[in-house]
Amino acid sequence: MAIKITDECINCGACEPECPNNAIYDAGATWRFSDGTELHGVIDFGDGNTLNADENQSAISDEVYYIVSDKCTECVGFHDEPQCAAVCPVDCCVDDEDVRESQDELLAKKSWLHAEG
Ligand code: SF4
Ligand code: SF4
Repeated sequence: MAIKITDECINCGACEPECPNNAIYDAGATWRFSDGTELHGVIDFGDGNTLNADENQSAISDEVYYIVSDKCTECVGFHDEPQCAAVCPVDCCVDDEDVRESQDELLAKKSWLHAEG
């Protein structure tokens, strides 16, 4: 599963620079697939949906820092444990029970984001 940030977040900002996928954004900030990844131009999700990686997407939270689950690999491929959860002073980076992925799926996502084998 991906990691999510709960509303216990105190907006300290410690997690944001630790994310290897640039999946963490400040409250109210727009996000892009291309931020911190190799993704550029039109992404075809293969299910009829496409999206421009360079286009700003609406903030997922206006109150607290948030994680874009499509960019979160639980740090698989980079670190042994989720770095956001490791640095969060109030332990509000927790498993997102709505986004469940296997280790192989997380590795494939990491390769997709960073265009490497
Ligand atoms: S678990 Fe890792 S990849 Fe996911 S948001 Fe946290 S730091 Fe980023
Ligand atoms: S480290 Fe924790 S409290 Fe600080 S911004 Fe990130 S999620 Fe919020």
